Amino acid sequence: MQAPARNSTAPVRITRVAVAPLVGESPPGGWAEEIKADDSIHALIAVHTDAGITGFGSSFTDGRLVVAAVKVLENLLIGENALEPERVSEKLHQNTFWMGRGGTLTHAISGIDIALWDILGQVTGLSIGRLAGGRYRDRVMPYCSLLMDEPSAMSDEITRYREQGFRAFKIGWGPFGRRDDYKLDEAIVDAAKRALPEGGKLMVDAGASDAHWPNGLKWALRTADMLADHDVYWFEEPVRPDDIDDFVALRRESRIPIAGGEVLTRRQAYLPFLVRGAFDIVQPDVTKVGGLSEQRRIARMAQDFGVRYIGHGWNTALGLAADLQLAAALPNVDLVEYIGGSAYVDKIMVTPFQLDADGMLAIPDSPGLGVSLDPDKVAKYSPDAERLFASD
Ligand SMILES: [Mg+2]
Repeated sequence: MQAPARNSTAPVRITRVAVAPLVGESPPGGWAEEIKADDSIHALIAVHTDAGITGFGSSFTDGRLVVAAVKVLENLLIGENALEPERVSEKLHQNTFWMGRGGTLTHAISGIDIALWDILGQVTGLSIGRLAGGRYRDRVMPYCSLLMDEPSAMSDEITRYREQGFRAFKIGWGPFGRRDDYKLDEAIVDAAKRALPEGGKLMVDAGASDAHWPNGLKWALRTADMLADHDVYWFEEPVRPDDIDDFVALRRESRIPIAGGEVLTRRQAYLPFLVRGAFDIVQPDVTKVGGLSEQRRIARMAQDFGVRYIGHGWNTALGLAADLQLAAALPNVDLVEYIGGSAYVDKIMVTPFQLDADGMLAIPDSPGLGVSLDPDKVAKYSPDAERLFASD
């Protein structure tokens, strides 16, 4: 066996953390107050070290909040050993508990934690999937996540992405459940089903974490029935995210799997949902919940409860890269989320993601996240790109 180039047990000290909010092509999310292209909803994070190695991560929130959070966290981070992601991230969680657990600070820690795993991988020469315990698979199916639209537009949209090679789709938000019109909801789903490739999957996301979601349990029960008749693969966020009793009742009755949990953060928040039996599929977002360290604990805990883990991946190329690594490292993870047409996924990497002939994505086995940001491409979406990549 070839000796490693350096002593990998020697600490690699954190010297600087840089934040680059992404703006200019923020994708619409179907929210009541719709996202504008120049709204900041994701930020890239770089953790620089005294070894000249830089790790990258991503946080799902307004970049101005991430900038402020990193200022607060810096005292706990600078000089820390970047090779100990779980310990360092837990140190950040534990020492900022009183400042508002689960919100901005947790979102920011998510990006930092992903970057620390990236550094550990680069120093050891191992992909994160291997560091996290081993690789169950070397490719996984991405499902294309699309906003709902009127039936004919929905059909055209699915056809467009089907032609790009996607074989699984999730449609959500938009008019669904918001017009008090069951017939329209069913017509959208029917149009989407007809546009699928042969053997393709369709998932439906009500998006009940939207502002002032108007429906309750009865709507969700009736809609779950309709979706089951159309052989929909899962029903996501069918009731408001805090309505645990409604989730439990719906899951018990529904003929199709009930998915949720994208707005929760911290492993502790998932525990009552798992204990009560609220979900068939749990969907933490690695760029919100606390990063890879927290995400894999939630995923493993869910699997021990007999609940499937399929991460929420409505974020960036780095979030998707992190999801791919966890899809490798955990049993029974057969799908990752891929936003259809987002510049922050498709247009910031040196080598963009590429579907294979079966509509699958290869899971990198090169060190760390196994992907590289392109500084010039990132600069198109962030005035702070230069500081992100600067080697000082
Ligand atoms: Mg969702």
